Amino acid sequence: MAKPSVAILGLGIMGSGMARRLLSANFPLAVYNRSREKCLPLAEAGAFVANTPGEAASRAQIIISMVANDAASSAVWLGKEGALSAASADSILIESSTLTVGWVRELAAKATGLGCQFLDAPVTGSKPQAASGELLFLVGGSMDAMEAARPVFSVLGRAVVHLGATGSGALMKLINNFLCGVQAASFAEAVSLIDAGGLDRVQAMSILSSGAAGSGILNRVADRILTNDFTPNFALRWMAKDLSYAVDGAAGKGVSLPVATAALAVFQKAIADGRGDEDFSAVTKSPQRDPDIDATVR
Ligand code: NAP
Repeated sequence: MAKPSVAILGLGIMGSGMARRLLSANFPLAVYNRSREKCLPLAEAGAFVANTPGEAASRAQIIISMVANDAASSAVWLGKEGALSAASADSILIESSTLTVGWVRELAAKATGLGCQFLDAPVTGSKPQAASGELLFLVGGSMDAMEAARPVFSVLGRAVVHLGATGSGALMKLINNFLCGVQAASFAEAVSLIDAGGLDRVQAMSILSSGAAGSGILNRVADRILTNDFTPNFALRWMAKDLSYAVDGAAGKGVSLPVATAALAVFQKAIADGRGDEDFSAVTKSPQRDPDIDATVR
C-alpha cells in the first residue's frame, strides 16, 4: 500500500527526530521550520523543504505540528501562509506539541470547520524516543482519524492511546508533565539539602535512585547530575511552560494545584538564573536558599 505523504511543521529537538524517522521509513515528507537552517540536514536526507507551513501542508495527506507552545502552534497553523490555509479537506491534521486544552479545542474547531480531521496527539518520550520511533501518542479526537493516521503513528511511536474527545490528549500530557516537573523541582530542593548538609553527592544519588524515592524522572535527573551534562533533551523553559499550562488549565476547571504552582516557582527561578535553554534537569543547579533562614541554626 502506498505510504501517505506527511508534513512536519517544526524541526526542533522532537520534530527533527520524527522527520528523520519518517524519511528512514520512506514516507514522502515535506518539512517546514521557522529558522530555515534546521531544514538543511533534512533536505540532504531527502525531505522537501517548504518555505511556508502552507506549502508543506499542501503537499501532505497527514500534517503534524511539533512546535514550542500555543503561540508557535497558532503561527504555523493560522499565521501568514499557515498550514490551515492550504490543507486539503481530506487531510488529517495532528497537533503533537504540548499545548493548552483551550487552544487545542479552538484549533480543532477551525480545522473541522474547513472539513479536515483533527487530532491532538502529544507525546511522552524525549529526544532518543523521537529518533528511534518509540514515542507514546496520547490522542484526543475521532477514533476513525486516529486509525487513518496509524501507519504514521506506528513508525513514530511504540503505542497510540485514544483518550477521548478533542483535548483529552492535551490534558493527559499536561497531567503527565506536571508530575514530572514536580518531581524534578523537589529533587532540586533535595540536592540543595545534600550539598548544604555536606553529604556525598554520588552516595546520596545512589541511595535515592535505588530506593523508594526513585522514579523514571528522578533517575534521569540523577544521571544528569552525576555526569554534569545538561545538554537539552527537553528544555527547562518548556517544562516551566507545561507546569504553567497545567496550573492555569486546572484552575479553569476549579482544581487547584498548589504543589505544581510551587514547582513552577522553582523552575522560574532557574530560568531567571539563565538556565532556560538547558535540559530541565538543570533545575537542580539553582540552589534553593532561603535568605530568611539563618544557616547557622541547626
Ligand atoms: P525545541 O527544540 O525548542 O523546538 C521548538 C520548535 O518550535 C522549533 O522548531 C521552533 O522553531 C518552533 N517555534 C518556536 N516558536 C515558534 C513560533 N513563534 N513560530 C513558529 N515556530 C516556532 O522544542 P522540542 O523539544 O522539539 O519540543 C517541541 C514540543 O514538544 C513542545 O511543545 C514540547 O513541550 C513538546 N515535547 C518535548 C519533549 C522533549 O523531550 N523535548 C517531549 C515531549 C513533548 P525555531 O527553530 O525557528 O526556533
